[in-house]
Amino acid sequence: ETTERLQKVMANAGVASRRASEKMILAGLVSVNGKIVKELGTKVSVSDVVVVSGKTLDIEKKVYFLFYKPRGVITAASDDKERKVVTDYFKNVEQRIYPVGRLDYDTSGLLLMTNDGDLANKLMHPRNKIAKTYVAKVSGIPANEDFKKLRLGITIEGKKTAPAKAKLLSSDQKKNKSLVSLTIHEGRYHQVKKMFDAIGHPVEKLKRETYGFLTLDGLTSGEYRELTNDEVLHLK
Ligand code: URA
Repeated sequence: ETTERLQKVMANAGVASRRASEKMILAGLVSVNGKIVKELGTKVSVSDVVVVSGKTLDIEKKVYFLFYKPRGVITAASDDKERKVVTDYFKNVEQRIYPVGRLDYDTSGLLLMTNDGDLANKLMHPRNKIAKTYVAKVSGIPANEDFKKLRLGITIEGKKTAPAKAKLLSSDQKKNKSLVSLTIHEGRYHQVKKMFDAIGHPVEKLKRETYGFLTLDGLTSGEYRELTNDEVLHLK
């Protein structure tokens, strides 16, 4: 069972900021399993009972889901009046989960959902360079030169994209469309669409097939599964 510092657990539960929570601990307002604690380093887990000023905290268990986001769904945690949001698919999950990164409204594919803010931040940090593979249906048939550009980097808003993998999966001469696989290690805003725009082959349909070592195997659109303990450990 994972443990976390008391002041962090308090902050996560919405009691107060971490700093203010520390002050409350020092002031003797916080008890763990019936005992007042004044030690700032105290570690607690979901099985501990933490009471702050007479109120018992709800310590959430950390949960991790791999979701196959359908097209036509907004990547957001809170409700939107008209359009569906990803959390609508998790009505049976009591924890307050949110997406790790985002996929566009019209993009489908692999999206992680969790209430573990530390892991979410870590995964989203550019330094981690997690490989994400997309399959794009694009207009036209990109030439070898275009693939070279995708691989070597394309300047978007003054900054070059990092080296990527790109390959033609299939093309339909008659319809003048192609399926292209693109693996990137960054996550800039609308990056894949912008990369294809830059080579003159705009994206018509986009799906994220992998995220690091994770794939959509066994899931259909709109379905999710919990990550295994091993998978979570590998991500951490
Ligand atoms: N790149 C995009 O352009 N859109 C996505 O949804 C994901 C990556």
